[in-house]
This record gives sequence, structure tokens and C-alpha cells, in this order.
Amino acid sequence: MTIQTANLGFPRIGPHRELKFALESYWSGKSGRETLLAVARKLRADNWQLQKDKGIAVIPSNDFSLYDHVLDTAVMVGAIPDAYGWKGGPVDLDIYFAMARGSAGDTHQGECGHAHHSHGVPALEMTKWFDTNYHYMVPEIGPDQIFELTANKPLEMFQEAKASGVFTRPVLLGPVTFLKLAKTRHQGFEPIQLIDRLLPVYAKILAALSADGADWVQIDEPALVLDLTAEDRRAFSHAYEALHQLVPNLKIMLATYFGAIADNLPVVVAAPLAGLHVDLVRAPEQMDEVLAALPPGRVLSIGIVDGRNIWRSNLAKHLDRLEPVAAALGAERIQVASSCSLLHVPVDLERETTVDADLKSWLAFATQKLEEVAALGLGLSAGRLAVGAALDASTAAAASRAASSKVHDPLVEARINSIDDPMKRRQGGFLQRKTVQDERLSLPLFPTTTIGSFPQTPEVRKARAEHGKGTLSDIDYESFLRSETEAAIRWQEEIGLDVLVHGEFERNDMVQYFGEQLAGFAFTQHAWVQSYGSRYVRPPVIFGDVSRPRPMTVRWWRYAQSLTEKPVKGMLTGPVTILNWSFVRDDLPRSAVCGQIALAIRDEVADLEEAGAAMIQIDEAALREGLPLRRGNWGAYLDWAVEAFRLCSSGVSDRTQIHTHMCYSEFNDIMASIAAMDADVISIETSRSKMELLDVFQHQDYPNEIGPGVYDIHSPRIPDVAEMTELLVLARRRLSDTQLWINPDCGLKTRRWEEVRPALVNMVEAARLLRLASDDGTLSATGA
Ligand code: GLN
Ligand code: ZN
Repeated sequence: MTIQTANLGFPRIGPHRELKFALESYWSGKSGRETLLAVARKLRADNWQLQKDKGIAVIPSNDFSLYDHVLDTAVMVGAIPDAYGWKGGPVDLDIYFAMARGSAGDTHQGECGHAHHSHGVPALEMTKWFDTNYHYMVPEIGPDQIFELTANKPLEMFQEAKASGVFTRPVLLGPVTFLKLAKTRHQGFEPIQLIDRLLPVYAKILAALSADGADWVQIDEPALVLDLTAEDRRAFSHAYEALHQLVPNLKIMLATYFGAIADNLPVVVAAPLAGLHVDLVRAPEQMDEVLAALPPGRVLSIGIVDGRNIWRSNLAKHLDRLEPVAAALGAERIQVASSCSLLHVPVDLERETTVDADLKSWLAFATQKLEEVAALGLGLSAGRLAVGAALDASTAAAASRAASSKVHDPLVEARINSIDDPMKRRQGGFLQRKTVQDERLSLPLFPTTTIGSFPQTPEVRKARAEHGKGTLSDIDYESFLRSETEAAIRWQEEIGLDVLVHGEFERNDMVQYFGEQLAGFAFTQHAWVQSYGSRYVRPPVIFGDVSRPRPMTVRWWRYAQSLTEKPVKGMLTGPVTILNWSFVRDDLPRSAVCGQIALAIRDEVADLEEAGAAMIQIDEAALREGLPLRRGNWGAYLDWAVEAFRLCSSGVSDRTQIHTHMCYSEFNDIMASIAAMDADVISIETSRSKMELLDVFQHQDYPNEIGPGVYDIHSPRIPDVAEMTELLVLARRRLSDTQLWINPDCGLKTRRWEEVRPALVNMVEAARLLRLASDDGTLSATGA
């Protein structure tokens, strides 16, 4: 018997980031469209050939995208907002990139991944693709949207692959997921209501593929692992019924991933689909349920090789799970596959020449995962002996990892076991702490501060790069950073900020900086994954028990504080954010890894306090975005996330003020957890919502202090005094004066000093005016 192997998608970026460089060269005008398209063609051809060489039977086409596959889908079906000036017909590359990046070039990315713009035509909004760190362009659809096929990209890709000698299974983003991901400006309208208008376009694409010889297509409907409404489910049933009627000969492999189908399973199995792909990595528990519900004859694609993480498979264990399924369903009814597209993992482990040899033996990137899928297929088809060598190597790697002292640190384990409740609780309640902190700090009403980073100028980045290369000595780099820090402190004093920051010039990235100093973390040289468009990141790898061998930030804090009488905040990244922006080991629950990081940060907090820091900020930029896809799982996540924050922040005395900062600040659903973090001061992003995000703090009588952002740092625009004063008036309607801090929305590292200087001068002035008004009594007249 022969069992088919399948891959759901391959990274587009190229083993040497070819796509990034080609795009940037095209955007800057250095090279033309033909050059860009030729690079893209070559990447596709190489990827197809690689998958074929590795022994994958079912190879995807149309998984490639110049920028983003959701954008491709929007463009393909003509969902192009009027502002982009599309006149019908094939969509020009300029329009495509205008949707991706805005025209007139001025798109700005905050660290949190939202796209913002200043002038010209803005880019589409961007947001996280499910719970990954990949960001897609959000289609915008109104009730009048007309869909039409602008160009049949799936067909072109299928033909291109065929011409290069590889017969593929084209991939499409499914109509239900596409509409679910779209946003609208129209109240009371849901894009999913337009499913009937969209289906003819999909039918046309599929019919053309079928006519050209395609036998299967992969249609991705990851929306099926979300909580869906009855209307969504009806749309799904209707869509696949209709597509089946319109294109009866083409077999559809419906791909679900990132979670369990769960309560959506009845509609999925009832639909006339030839195949179903399930994610057994994220939702191993769904296997039995899916098997029991699977209609006769349907092919089951089993996603068992992790497409979201970088760990090497334990092939023997996988075979233990696959063999009974294969026996039950029969060879012709199963496929062995990656759990989802390999888009989310780096391209090739072989490029890593500097990672520890043991660690390397525990890893698998996209290329290695193809080998794993192939080995599993062969093992099932021809028996384990046929893949004896691969099995032995994988078993040995698993054993070495399980036993390695690089992974397991008994001291960390002992500390975790000794955590008790008092460690997760501040000594005094908030009001008690506030009294002693106010006394110690004697800050004015409406204290002003910033979120931590100051502009990472070309000079700062150049110095870091040169230091990295070894062309700038440690001593020269250090003195450069010192002078940047000193200048920042002097300037903050000069403009009259109340609580200062050191500026974070020494930090490359808010997670990497800490990961590099913690035990249990590793960094790669080439393991890039796409974050959005041409922006790729190399997430840290948490491979072992985490601990903090020595202080990480105390030296810089101490230096900054030595320059001024004003308080300088200690500045740390929180455990949940470090976890959510890393590749995390898969041999422990995420909550346990988070607890270890929390202990390490707790040590740093203690050392900062010991050094004299009166205020310590612990950023949890990614806490909100880490929420699970299904609401039913939120509670468990929030419980351990909040607990980790409390664990890292509660070791200090009442006199020490704990700050936290969060970027995406829509807290309506999770306010109880935000309150439970019990930070003395929280700074949040509120300027663009005109302070509406503060409503929930008001309604829930949140007692602690809050710094609602009054300066949108995602835009190069410089807010004036009046504008910030207006925002503060709005904030004062919702909060009491003694609660209110004044600060920007987020860190300033992506901005230029020319923007930051006047904006912060204005901010300090707005605070001064507010205090004046409160002194002479006019404030209480306008106040709430
Ligand atoms: N302290 C960090 C900074 O200012 C916070 C960044 C963030 O929240 N994304 O850069
Ligand atoms: Zn932020």
C-alpha cells in the first residue's frame, strides 16, 4: 500500500531571503518589475523541486505570494477599495503594493504590527493571522461590493508548476475564511452575508483548474477552528454545496488548522468534500471524534508534523498514532501532512552553523519537516524497517533532548516547586502602596513619562551593527551608548518630564535583548520567518529551563539614574510577551515555561529594587494578543498569564512602584484580568480611540493609576497642545485626577527625534496647563 504525503504550503521568503531583497530593490526603484517577477518565479520553481526531491507526493501551488496570501485573494476577487483607483481588469502591481504598503510610501509600522499611514493612499489595515505572528492585510468589504475574477492566479501557478515538471494541488484561501477575516465600515453588515456573490468567482477559478487537469485543490478554511455563529455555519454549508454542484469533478481537500474543529464538525462532515485536513499538533484530542464522524470514502489528511514550531518530530511516536488510523481507514483514504503551511517556520536548518550541536539535532525547519513527512509516509506504506535509519536518528534525538542537562536544570525545577501564594501577592493593597509611593516619589498631579525607548536612529543601528561585526570595539560601543543615554536624560530633564527613561539604546529588540542574557534561550543566524510583507523576524528559541545567570539591565539603569535627581524607570519585558514572541519548547506546557521566565524577571526586579529603582516597568505588549482563538480557552490562558505577571512583579516592597505597558488596549473582555495584574500604574494605547478604550476602566471602577496614551506614536504626525489637552479632558471624564498619568501610546523607537522632540514638549505643556487649571479651580468647573 502507498500512503500519500502532503505539504500545505512552503515559506516564500527563500533560503537567503531572496524575496525580501527583490521586493526592496523593486520598491526603491533600483530594479524593475521583470527582475522581481523573475526572482519570484525562481523561488517557486526551487520550492516545487525541493518538495519533489524530498519525496512529497502532494505539493501545493499558489501558496506563494509576493506580499500576503489574503491580499492576493482580495485582489483576485476584485475586493479593492475605491481609493486605490482600480479601473477593472487585471490588477497592476502598483495597486497591489499600494494596498499592501500605502502609496506615497508613508506606511509606518508600530512594533505591535498595526499599519498606520500619514498621507497618500493608506495601506489596508494589517492584523495577526489567527494566533500566529504572521500578519495579513485585512480586506475591506462593504454591502455594495461586487466580486469579479481579476486574474486566475491559482490557475497561472498551477500551469507554471506543471511547466516546470511538477504536478501540484493548488491552494486557495476559502471563501468563508476570506469573508470572516474581512472588515467593514458598515454597521449592521457582516461580510459573510455576501457569500453568494463571492461563490461564482470561486466556481470560475475551480472550473478553470479542473479544465486544465487539476484533480484536487486545497481550500484553506482555518476559520473552522474559531467560534462560529449559526449564520457562518449556514454560509459554509451553502458555499461548499454550491461549489460541489458547480464543479463536481474537482476534489476539494478542505484544510483546517491552528485548532480543533470541535462544534463545527457536524457541518464540515456534512459538506460534499472529498477530503478533510485536521491539525493534530494543536488539537491532538480531536482525532477520535473526527474519525467517528468522517463519512465513508472521505480522505483524511493528518497534520502531524508541526508547521508552527521548530522541533524535530519523534517519528516513532507519530507512527504509533498513525498506524491504527491507516489500518482503520485504508491506505487510499489517508494522507500524512504538515499540520499547517510551513510558512511559519524557517526554511532550512542546514544553514545554521553556529547553534549548539545538540540543540541543532533537536530541530527541524521547513526543509527538514518535508523529510519527516516523507519518512512517515514511507514508514506507513512500507513498514518501519523501510525508514529504520530515519526512525533511529529521530528516536536518538528525542532521547538526548529528554535527558540533556542543557534542557533540564534541577535548580529551576526546585524553584518552580517552591512557588507559594505570597510570592504572587504584593504585601499591601493598592491604596496602602499608593500612600507610601506618593510619599517617596512626591510627583506632581498628572505625572508625565514615556514608555521606554527613544528613537533608534541610523547612528544607533549603525553602531550596533558595527559592534556586532566586531568593527566597533566593546569600549567604543559602550561609550557611544553612554553618550546617547546621557543626552536622552539631559533632554528629558530639560523639557521637564517627571519620570524619565534611559532610552533603550542598548537594546536591539525588547524580547531578544532579554533572551540573549537568559539561560535556556538560543538564537539563530538565518532562521527568518515572515512577520508581514518583506519584514522577517528571527524569534528566540526557548529550548531549556529558563534562569537568569546575572543582572541584565541594572548597569544601564544605574548609569541613567546617576545622571539625574528625577526618578528613572527600570525597564523590563514581561514573561508573557517574551513567551508569545518566541519559539517555545514543546516538552512542557506553555504556562510552565512562562512561570520560569517570570522567576527570571522576578530576580531582575529584585536587583533593580536593590539598586535603588523606585519604579520598575514590566511591559506586557503581547499579553492581549496571546488570547486563544476560542473564547472557551481564554480563562485558562489569562489565569496563568496574570499569575506569571504577578509572580515577576510581587517580590518588591510597597514603596516600589510597578508599572506595566500594553499596546493593543481593547480590554473590554478581559478587564478582570488586567485588574488582577495589580500593577500600580498601567500605560496603554488610547489616542486613536479618543479615549473610548478607557470606558471599561471607569465602568469597572479600576482603582490603580493609568496613563492613557495621548500621542499616537504610529504616525509621524506631531500632535499639538490643544489636541492632547482635548484627549486629557476626555480621559478626566472617565478617571479621577489622582489616577491619571500622561504619556505616549507606546515606545518611540520607530520615530525620528524631529518628531519626538516637539511632540513631547507639547505633551509636557499640556500637563502644565492641566495642573494650572486644577490649581486655580477652573479644572473642577470643566471636570466630570
Ligand atoms: N518599553 C518598550 C519600548 O518603549 C515597549 C514597547 C512595546 O510595548 N511594544 O519600546
Ligand atoms: Zn506598546
